[in-house]
Amino acid sequence: MSEMKERFLKDYKKPAFEIENVELVFELDEDMSLVTNSMNFKKIDANEKNLELDSIDLELVELWLNDLQLDDTRYIYKDEKLTILNVPSSFKIKIKNKIYPQNNTELEGLYKSGDIFCTQNEPEGFRRITPYLDRPDVMSVFTTTVIADKEKYPVLLSNGNKMQCHDSFDGRHGVTWVDPHKKPSYLFALVAGDLGSISDEYITASGERVELNIYCDLGNESKCYHAMQSLKESMFWDEQKYGREYDLEIYNIVAVDSFNMGAMENKGLNIFNSAYVLADADTASDANFMGIQSVIAHEYFHNWTGNRITCRDWFQLTLKEGLTVFRDQCFSADLNSAEVQRIEDVKSLRERQFVEDASPTRHPIQPKSYISMNNFYTATVYEKGAEVIRMVHTLLGEENYRKATDLYFESFDGQAVTTDDFLWAMSKASGINLDAFKLWYHQSSTPTLEVKEEFEAGHYTLKLKQVVSDAVDGSKQLPYFYPLKMALLDAKGEEKVSKILTISNEYEEFVFEGFDTKPILSINRDFSAPIIVEQESPDFLFLMKHDKNSFVQYESAQKFATATLEAMMQGEAIDESFVEAYGHLLDLERDLSYKALLLELPTVSSLMQRQKEVDFEIIYDAKEKLEKHLAREFQEKLLALYNEHHYPKSETIDALNMGQRSLKNRVLKLLSTLESPKIVELTKKQYKESLSMSDRVVALDILENGDAKEAQVAFVDFYEKYKDETLVMNKYFALLASSMREGVLQRVELLQEDEVYDAKVPNLVRSLIGSFSRNYKYFHAKDGSGYKFVAKKIIEIDSINAQMASGLAGAFKIYNRMNKTNKELMQRELENILSVDTLSKNVYEIISKIIK
Ligand SMILES: [Zn+2]
Repeated sequence: MSEMKERFLKDYKKPAFEIENVELVFELDEDMSLVTNSMNFKKIDANEKNLELDSIDLELVELWLNDLQLDDTRYIYKDEKLTILNVPSSFKIKIKNKIYPQNNTELEGLYKSGDIFCTQNEPEGFRRITPYLDRPDVMSVFTTTVIADKEKYPVLLSNGNKMQCHDSFDGRHGVTWVDPHKKPSYLFALVAGDLGSISDEYITASGERVELNIYCDLGNESKCYHAMQSLKESMFWDEQKYGREYDLEIYNIVAVDSFNMGAMENKGLNIFNSAYVLADADTASDANFMGIQSVIAHEYFHNWTGNRITCRDWFQLTLKEGLTVFRDQCFSADLNSAEVQRIEDVKSLRERQFVEDASPTRHPIQPKSYISMNNFYTATVYEKGAEVIRMVHTLLGEENYRKATDLYFESFDGQAVTTDDFLWAMSKASGINLDAFKLWYHQSSTPTLEVKEEFEAGHYTLKLKQVVSDAVDGSKQLPYFYPLKMALLDAKGEEKVSKILTISNEYEEFVFEGFDTKPILSINRDFSAPIIVEQESPDFLFLMKHDKNSFVQYESAQKFATATLEAMMQGEAIDESFVEAYGHLLDLERDLSYKALLLELPTVSSLMQRQKEVDFEIIYDAKEKLEKHLAREFQEKLLALYNEHHYPKSETIDALNMGQRSLKNRVLKLLSTLESPKIVELTKKQYKESLSMSDRVVALDILENGDAKEAQVAFVDFYEKYKDETLVMNKYFALLASSMREGVLQRVELLQEDEVYDAKVPNLVRSLIGSFSRNYKYFHAKDGSGYKFVAKKIIEIDSINAQMASGLAGAFKIYNRMNKTNKELMQRELENILSVDTLSKNVYEIISKIIK
């Protein structure tokens, strides 16, 4: 099976040809679209006789070499390659080919989302549009003309600046776009549709005017303002922080409903999953508003970190993604609460990346090989990649980091480069040797740091040991080099020592002098390195109360709760000192969003990651018991907090209002474990009276998991109100699929028949099937029904959209850590999936790694 071929980083070869410019003409139609592609080539490698273009599922109409039309003795078209034989040293190729966007359910290349023509070409979609050297290190200048029916498709967009429009007699019109910046084909984009829009402008630091447009389905225009505001904030931030300005006359964003990913940074024409553009108070939660702000920023920041400087090959993906995620995290931290942002970043890293890093699909942030590149748009490449950049930032310090990024932009603008080139700039500008740091790019798994303390006659000794597990192929991995922020606190919580230590060996020892009594250690402050810290008998209670580092304070509360829950899982009684500490947190006068995080108990996933052999039942039992106990113990305090911060008429999206909502909803959720009629009434009232979607979704969730009858009434009401709002319906499906109530699987199966549900729309599949696969209680049901259902869906969806199916397959990643019963049940389903002969390489790669 040539399709399952594994590709290796070590096999990289420079391109043998360059493409000086590309002219594309698209004639779009309902039953077939015609692409005319004219390219000027120059040979780089004189020994290369033939030109080999990437091409998938294309119907060739005509092929010209200079002025000669080629017959099939001059070219070979097979195995996803169009090979043109015996080409001269510089020449022109013209290709006409047919495509069928309306039948494209993979959502790669040119496809239709509803009535809108749109594209997604990263990483290898462009070869589904027209034959091309479809690799990121071939950069060219693109001119694109889009022609379509004027009434059906009044808006015609592509990359760059708009140059010409023309109308023809047959009711069709055309628009020509010129992008003066060289770019790889994965950044090519095209949109055609009958779209609504809002417009604004931005004046860059050097005084250039940029026209800003956001396009969406007609009628949704009023939901685009938050995205527009976020775009302008991003443009300003990148000028201030990195000295980077925008470089075209126009910046377009288009929101579409059917999209595999979050959004795509195509040059001057970002295409977005509508979930990351559209929002208003009635339909979007606070988390949605925050998500839009960060994804809009992320895609904008790519203009410099991704587009102008791009990746040499796809193994370098973290070059653009790790860096850009780090940039969007800093942007969100600057615009909102930095302490909350840091904790949210770490939470998401641990929930998604740590799980991946402990699974058979683990890989370095720079993978060594892949079968389907689509499988490597992972939390490791993105989120761990961002942590790696953050460590560089910490090692260099703010001032040196800025010098180093300036040097990076100066040295590599307009080029396709590697992670080594990036580290070269970081090292060169700062004078800091980063050779030992490179291991972070080439090794997998989360390292552990074992911490021991000794105190004798005023000397405090910190003894550290790095534990690094083997790679997935069994090979040994080496100790890392990283910054470790720490402090030593006295009995009042004052910082006696505050330092960034550099860790580089397996064993490290640091001695601090001059203490009368043993100081308290505050370690890995701000989560300065993406590691697991294991410390002998730390004083969680003290750190929870006194540490001024908000990350360590949060971490200590989490660890104290984890220790309490784990003791309960062993059959011990509830640790009353934890209960007392929790009471202390309730009284804290702190930022409300931060306080809401402090009050959160560890997630099921975080507890699962610490189990040798995973069994979800005992985790759920212990958590439920502790929650009930806390709710009973602090009922009055919790109710008072709820009443103090509940403003049903508030729908303002600012730090104070969002903080109030997140705190009082955390409190309500805890109170709901009491199953008291009074709390049910309070919840019903919140559902009915609150204007904010966050409030209503939390209320629905509580009712769903508490009172079946009341849930039924509320869900019917919600459905009637929002059945025409697909984005809101995603919440509806997700809530029902995540429910803890009996009979979830049966309800999920029925919901697939709902007229709103569509298995071709990734957002809906993720909301219903994806949420169910993360519902540990029912996905891991001991009768195997959850596994059977999800496996069946993976096989079905694989034939529609392979990328979406391999995303779902990730649910089986914890296979090798499951208890015997569940493991056997899982194995049966995994083998079943592998036995399908039409299986895509995407799903094959994930499942075969899991079961190996
Ligand atoms: Zn990105």
